[in-house]
Amino acid sequence: HRSLCWLRRDLRLSDHAALAAATEASAYVAVVFVFDTAILGRLEDRDDRRVTFIYRSLQELDDRLRAQGAALLVRFGDPKAEMPALAREFGAEAVFAARDYEPYAVERDAEVGRRLAGQGAELRLVKDTVVREAGETLSHSGAPYRAYAHYARAWHSAFVPKQDLIEHLPRLERLARRENLPKANFLPNYPLAAIGFTETELWLPAGEAAANAQAAAFRSKIDRYEEDGNFPSHDGTSALSVHLRFGTISVRECFRLALEAAASGRKWLAELLWREHYQDVLGNFPRVAESPFDKRFESLRYPGDPIHFSPWQVGKTGYPIVDAAMRCLNATGWMPNRLRMVAASFLCKDLLLDYRLGERYFARKLLDFDLAANNGNWQWVASVGADSQPSFRVMNPVTQSERFDPNGDFIRRWVPELAALSASAIHFPCAASEMELMASGIDLGETYPRPIVDHARQRQRAIGLFKEAV
Ligand code: FAD
Repeated sequence: HRSLCWLRRDLRLSDHAALAAATEASAYVAVVFVFDTAILGRLEDRDDRRVTFIYRSLQELDDRLRAQGAALLVRFGDPKAEMPALAREFGAEAVFAARDYEPYAVERDAEVGRRLAGQGAELRLVKDTVVREAGETLSHSGAPYRAYAHYARAWHSAFVPKQDLIEHLPRLERLARRENLPKANFLPNYPLAAIGFTETELWLPAGEAAANAQAAAFRSKIDRYEEDGNFPSHDGTSALSVHLRFGTISVRECFRLALEAAASGRKWLAELLWREHYQDVLGNFPRVAESPFDKRFESLRYPGDPIHFSPWQVGKTGYPIVDAAMRCLNATGWMPNRLRMVAASFLCKDLLLDYRLGERYFARKLLDFDLAANNGNWQWVASVGADSQPSFRVMNPVTQSERFDPNGDFIRRWVPELAALSASAIHFPCAASEMELMASGIDLGETYPRPIVDHARQRQRAIGLFKEAV
């Protein structure tokens, strides 16, 4: 009996549900990754950081497979054609993969399953990317949860750590040997350029070993997470979102880490649950990918001026914390969570632009971009989601800046033209004295923009807009 293990967002070998299931069921297993032309075709940037991250993670994985006498099969094309073809070439009766809840993936996998069935093989999807998947956490009446607090309570009461966090151990001795694999683009001789991309700098190392090292480093500071996590300059969060996105770490491993930390891990565990919650929302209500969960806002007309979108993107709004956040995103593909909220709120409630514009921009830039989390959080900030912040709550970019970047360290790093300002003036330079501005070499409107909108006024407009809509 032969089978294929098709990797998608599970680019590791340890605690791997699909590979464990495949090697349990079959004596000969080949591991394959398909560069999906449908997904790559939608990417706007040829130096997209995600492609580099995937590529480097695959290289590491391939090294490990080679140490076992095997190798990673790599194809470039449409998986709907590639997977059935590979199954035929390898003589596989089954293809194992981790279930993916994004609408595109659901549709793609259904088609791959149909085509495999047509040739007498089957697609076997297993749960791997979440601890509890859509359909598993339901209310007494059998309905999915909308509110995070209710979802989290139900999740906890159903959670059985021993069973839910079981380690899925692949039997690597069952991997098919290199010489018995079908022809493919074996990695060392297959550069990224072959699929039309260029390698780029990453601010964090890719791959499973790096993910484990990062988790280990976070273990020693998890007890300060609650205190430090909100401060962009404190480096207090795990930065594991990228690894969770690509599955270079298993989500079960992250939950184990949180549980081992006992009381000090509680807050972090709650964040992992937000991730599960948004996967649950997307799985149960795939329409959120396109429109607000809250149908009252489906036809809301955003009155903002589209001309403001570009300064937001490039970090020239005149609100330093927003600008620092956006420039950090553009330069690295990363933005700390607190600032994602501030920058997103600014787009939705200060610029009064459609949240989907911002959602799409983050989707293009974030190295940890995940449809469920990005969409869920944007809808939360925009007050149109399954369980949002109330529409009358509008974040003030200046007080947020004073509170979470009190010395202006983060601003100084990303908006260097303001670096000479004092800690009191840096959050809102246009309120600084002429003397301080001059002494700091700042000519407002020239070296740094004046605010493109007035926060107090826009706040009132935002509150009015939502009041009218309901
Ligand atoms: P930690 O604070 O160490 O948290 C641990 C893990 O919990 C994270 O890695 C992540 O997997 C999960 N998590 C934490 N907060 C959230 C949250 N609010 N929602 C869902 N999961 C969460 N996260 C993404 O992974 N991908 C996205 O595309 C994404 N887009 C976002 C867009 C906006 C507008 C906002 C406000 C938040 C977004 N987030 C997204 C959530 C959050 O900002 C990141 O998960 C977090 O900053 C990642 O840093 P970390 O790994 O150090 O997180």
